[in-house]
Amino acid sequence: MRMTSSNPITGQTALVTGASRGIGRAVALELGKTGAEVVVNYSSSTEKANEVVKAIIANGGKAYSIKANIAEEKEVNEMIQSVLERSGQINILINNAGITRDGLLMRMKSEDWQSVINTNLSGVFLCTRAVSRSMLKQKSGRIINITSVVGIMGNAGQANYAAAKAGVLGLTKSTAKEFASRGITVNAIAPGFIATDMTKGLEAESILQAIPLGSFGTPDHVAGAVRFLATDPAASYITGQVLQVDGGMVMS
Ligand code: NAP
Repeated sequence: MRMTSSNPITGQTALVTGASRGIGRAVALELGKTGAEVVVNYSSSTEKANEVVKAIIANGGKAYSIKANIAEEKEVNEMIQSVLERSGQINILINNAGITRDGLLMRMKSEDWQSVINTNLSGVFLCTRAVSRSMLKQKSGRIINITSVVGIMGNAGQANYAAAKAGVLGLTKSTAKEFASRGITVNAIAPGFIATDMTKGLEAESILQAIPLGSFGTPDHVAGAVRFLATDPAASYITGQVLQVDGGMVMS
């Protein structure tokens, strides 16, 4: 699909963290179709990130990749600085990059606790803080944090992950309140089980019984929700909210 100038996202710059694979990749491809310039962040998969960039460009869009570990303050600040120098703006930030280091709490190594908190929670804080100055100045912006239904319901074997994702919910709502007066919305998407590298090897049968819609989601299901929340004016009156993309697994 070729972009059209009537699309409200055309001409904007969207930074997607962890966009080399899985959900972030689908989000980058989806935003690329809208005519946004997409910045594909990744931590180690250079080749895969470059493939995402190539696919967006082949589709008539604009994109480039940038390597940075979002858990490292210096790397995050340098990444944002370099995007602002190259693109002149960041209108949409998708905080998507995340990891798992599962294990029962009693046996959980401190380093597994810390690395998940550092990437999944502190990474969102670092990226949000780093873009905040330019977004506040331009008096507009969309920040979309990819959390998880696990942050709402908890999950045995994922205390570190659930704590980080629950933290992202509080961070989302607090940031939404701080930034609202400057025309910046901050929302979260809480996916359920989505078929990616992260969920490979999970015992599917027992999980499927808990999903009313009867299947794992796809990265495209999440990408569609991101596109909606990034779109003006469709989502411009929504902030501080959590949109669950989980096949009905968690209904509150
Ligand atoms: P994935 O397939 O494992 O992909 C993870 C992505 O994050 C990769 O692009 C990876 O880059 C990047 N990444 C990891 N650590 C990073 C770091 N420190 N700095 C920069 N990039 C980093 O995971 P996914 O399933 O797509 O998950 C994406 C997000 O959705 C995560 O926040 C996850 O918690 C959340 N989520 C997933 C599910 C699910 O069922 N899959 C459900 C709920 C929420 P490299 O390729 O360079 O390693």
